[in-house]
Amino acid sequence: MTAPSLASLFESFGLDPARFAAGDLLARSPIDGAVLGRLPADTPATLSAKIARAEAAQRRWRAIPAPRRGELVRLWGEELRAHKQALGALVTLEAGKIRAEGEGEVQEMIDMAEFATGQSRQLYGLTIASERPGHRMMETWHPLGVVGVITAFNFPVAVFAWNAMLALVCGDALVWKPSEKTPLTALAVLALFARACRRFGDAPEGLIEVAQGDASIGQALADDPRVPLVSATGSTRMGATLAPRVAQRFGRALLELGGNNGMIVTPSAELDLALRTILFSAIGTAGQRCTTLRRLIVHANSADALVARLKTAYATATVGDPREPGTLVGPLIDRNAFDAMQAALAEARAEGGVIHGGERLLAERFPAAAYVRPAIVELPQQSALVRRETFAPILYVLRYSEFDEALALHNDVPQGLASAIFTNDLREAERFIAASDCGIANVNIGPSGAEIGGAFGGEKATGGGREAGSEAWKAYMRRATNTINYSLALPLAQGISFGPTG
Ligand code: NAD
Repeated sequence: MTAPSLASLFESFGLDPARFAAGDLLARSPIDGAVLGRLPADTPATLSAKIARAEAAQRRWRAIPAPRRGELVRLWGEELRAHKQALGALVTLEAGKIRAEGEGEVQEMIDMAEFATGQSRQLYGLTIASERPGHRMMETWHPLGVVGVITAFNFPVAVFAWNAMLALVCGDALVWKPSEKTPLTALAVLALFARACRRFGDAPEGLIEVAQGDASIGQALADDPRVPLVSATGSTRMGATLAPRVAQRFGRALLELGGNNGMIVTPSAELDLALRTILFSAIGTAGQRCTTLRRLIVHANSADALVARLKTAYATATVGDPREPGTLVGPLIDRNAFDAMQAALAEARAEGGVIHGGERLLAERFPAAAYVRPAIVELPQQSALVRRETFAPILYVLRYSEFDEALALHNDVPQGLASAIFTNDLREAERFIAASDCGIANVNIGPSGAEIGGAFGGEKATGGGREAGSEAWKAYMRRATNTINYSLALPLAQGISFGPTG
């Protein structure tokens, strides 16, 4: 099957190509460096107007019953289902993911729509025993307002869906600042949402506003007091700048930041299974997932055998145009990512690391793009280099002798997103789950490729946020504790007596 053209993709979303003919924001394909479109970036003034529109929409939206709000999300899911291939192809074009992963990202949105539709009938609170006679105490959940969402280039559509679909059923409106590297996918998602709104009938205009631009627009969103929650996905560096700004105005920040994901392989592990898992987790999405496997902590007795098999698998994995069938590894997002990878490999070499792969590929066919052979780096210790996230396909291999040493190595990084162990030893598995300081801890599957049903997110420098499944919806609402007196007396809590009548 040949890949659809950009013009046919625009057409399937009802987007007029004339909209992408001029402007200072450049959409480029990492596949070959081609310019896909130019569009105007927002300014603080246009952002402010968009926030005002979202605010007005939210005032109407919050009065609509939650299960009816869920109906809009259900319709949006239908639009996504009908346009799964087209949106997946646009993700491939703009973010460079192979087709299976581009479409997988859209499937995640569809799954999220179904989950959020069900959740719209499950926005529940507790009833709590009151110490006062004739009183009832409960908690109720209310819409929060306008939610600001800032997203990263590597999940240009799914991460927004995690946020937006729950926020919508919770009665919120959204202002979305997508990555400046993926502006077109955001407009396609918005176009599909607009179709769902038309079918829904009475959805207020402005329920989702998209503000395009770089970090300065993200900062303006973070600073705006009309936005009670800013949900931001990106590097730890971004979170460290953004979170204090939001906190300064007493807003809330929901942070999904960088990972540095490890996997322990113990002597009892099924090595065949481990090998396949490592490949998907370490080189999938060209090592540009927040959950990408970056640190392999292997028992010294099996390390040589595992590295030898990994080297063979790495050498034969097809690196190339992500639109072509058979490609497993597409391009890096841009030249900066390539330079960061090469700098990390040079540092590893200087530290005495043994490096396999990492070289540039396809330079003649795609001179304006950055394709690399994923790298395996054997290092004697977990240095400062290993402890920071380099957003590229580098897998550091570290060896251990005692299980406690493996657990200590595993946790000794600033980030805490995803983790895994391969073992057939029940005690090791349970000890790992208890000890891993990550938001995700898996046994006999890799750190990468989460399902939406479980809450997603990480600890430490990953930011502490949780999105998608489980009780993540609570972040998009405000909680009130309510006490109702149905007696004719006024007893005070803690038995306090106040005034002449007590
Ligand atoms: P990035 O931090 O460069 O940019 C992310 C987004 O934040 C972009 O929209 C950018 O414009 C914006 N931004 C940057 N600085 C900002 C600031 N000071 N204030 C406000 N907004 C700002 O990240 P990236 O290169 O697009 O994505 C890769 C990073 O994202 C990796 O670190 C990866 O681990 C992380 N990531 C995390 C998750 C997760 O769920 N934990 C998911 C995807 C990506």
